[in-house]
Amino acid sequence: MSGIELAKQFENGDCAENKVFYQAMEEVIYSIAPLLESDPKYRQHAILQRLVVPDRVIKFKVTWMDDNQNIQVNTGYRVQFNNALGPYKGGLRFHPSVNEGILKFLGFEQIFKNALTGLPIGGGKGGSDFNPKGKSDFEVMKFCSAFMTELHKYIGPRMDVPAGDIGVGSREIGYLFGEYKKITSTYEGVLTGKPFMFGGSLMRPEATGYGVIYFTETMLELEGKESLEGKICTVSGAGNVALHAIEKLYDIGAIPVSATDSRGTVYDARGVDLELLKKLKLERRVSLEEYVEVHPEARYTPVEEYPEEGHAVWDIPCYAAFPCATQNELTGMDAQNLIANGVEVVAEGANMPSTPKAINDFLSHKICFAPAKAANAGGVAVSEFEMAQNAAMGKWSFEKVDEKLKTTMQQIAKRVVLTAKDYGVEGNYVDGANIAGFKRVADAMIAEGI
Ligand code: NDP
Repeated sequence: MSGIELAKQFENGDCAENKVFYQAMEEVIYSIAPLLESDPKYRQHAILQRLVVPDRVIKFKVTWMDDNQNIQVNTGYRVQFNNALGPYKGGLRFHPSVNEGILKFLGFEQIFKNALTGLPIGGGKGGSDFNPKGKSDFEVMKFCSAFMTELHKYIGPRMDVPAGDIGVGSREIGYLFGEYKKITSTYEGVLTGKPFMFGGSLMRPEATGYGVIYFTETMLELEGKESLEGKICTVSGAGNVALHAIEKLYDIGAIPVSATDSRGTVYDARGVDLELLKKLKLERRVSLEEYVEVHPEARYTPVEEYPEEGHAVWDIPCYAAFPCATQNELTGMDAQNLIANGVEVVAEGANMPSTPKAINDFLSHKICFAPAKAANAGGVAVSEFEMAQNAAMGKWSFEKVDEKLKTTMQQIAKRVVLTAKDYGVEGNYVDGANIAGFKRVADAMIAEGI
C-alpha cells in the first residue's frame, strides 16, 4: 500500500497541503517492508497505522500588533506526533509556507531522527505562517509573546520541548522563553536552543552543521572512501545549518565553495568567505547578492536565472554536496548534474531536501547518500544535552558537548550502515536509517501497549 493510500484511510485534510507528508511517509513505508516481512509482530500491533497519525495536532490563532498599530493575525501549530521514547521534541518553524501538512511531514521525520540518536526523545514539530523577514525586533518579540500565550498550555519539560528551525533562532527562542516564564512563573527547560546565558547549551547553534560533517566523515570511513580533507564541497543555504557545515568543512581542511539563499547562489571557487557570509546573513539579514560586491571574482546567480526544475548550486563540480536550505531543493535534474560532475557523497543537512527522484538516482549510481534523518540529527542530539543540563541545573564545556556530539553522530552512522547490511540493502542508508529508527520506536510502542 502506498503512503498516499495509507494516509487517505486516516486523513480527511487537504491533499495538496499534505503532499510532503505523504512523500515522507511513502519513503518510510517502502524502506521498512523487509522488516515487516521478517517480523510479523509489527503488523500484529498495527504499528504503521498507529505511527502515521499524530497523537494530536494543535492549531491556534495568534493575534499581535505591528509597529504601525495594525492588528495582525497568524496561525500557530504544534504537531505532537509520537512520545513512545520520550517527551515530544522538535523545532518551531516561522515561515509563510508553514501549514499543517509541512509540519506533519517534519514531525513524522522527527520521530525516526530522534529515535536514531538513541536518546530518550519523542517526535514533534510546530510553527507558524508568520514571516519574520522585514519585521522589526519589537514586532518579532510581540509575535513570539502572542504565540507563546497559546502554546504554553501544551508544552513542558517532561511533555513537549520545542526548539528552533527555519526562522526561529536564539532571538526568537529568547522571546518565547521570556513569555513562558512570565505566564507560568517557572524557570525550566521547556525550550532548547536558548542563549547560553539563560540555560542554553554551548554548541547548540553549531550542532546540526557540525554533526552533518561528523556523520559524513564516519560514513566515508566505513565505506572505505577518501575523507573530505582537501576536497571541493558544495553547500546550499546560508542559515544556521549551512554556515556551521561550512565552518566545520574548513576546520577539517575541505574547501566549501558555495552558499545559497531564497534569492540566489554564490559560487566562490577559492572557498567561500565565511566571515562575510555570517555578516550578511546573521548580522545584517540581507541578500547574498552583496557577497560579490566584496568579492567580484565570485559568481552570483539569482533564482530567476536557475535552469527550469534545477538549482545553480548543484551544477558546480564537487566531491561532496550538502543541501542545507529546505525541502525538495535538490531535484532529479540536480542529481543528474551532480552525478555527471563526479559527486561521490551527498549528505542532507536540511530536512528532506532531495526529491524522491534525486534519491533514486543517487542510490542507483552508488553515490554515498546520507539521508537527513540520520545526517542532521546533531541538532536534536545537542538539544537533548541541553535538556539534561537544565534538569541537573548544570553547564557542560564546549569540548564535552562537542565530544558527545561527535560520538553520537558516529554511532548513528554505524547504526545506519549496519542495519542496511543486516536487512540486505547494503549501501542504502535511506533504508538503513528508516528501519533502525522505526524499530526503536515500534519496539517501545509494543512494550507500552495500545
Ligand atoms: P535558517 O532559517 O537559519 O536558514 C535557512 C536557509 O535556507 C536560509 O539561507 C534561507 O534563505 C534558505 N531558504 C529557506 N527557504 C528557502 C527556499 N524555499 N528556497 C531557497 N532557500 C531557502 O534555517 P536552518 O539553517 O536552521 O534550517 C535549514 C534546514 O535544516 C531546514 O530544512 C531545517 O528544517 C533543517 N534543520 C535545522 C536544524 C537546526 O538545528 N537549525 C536541525 C535539523 C534540521 P533566506 O536567507 O533568503 O531566508
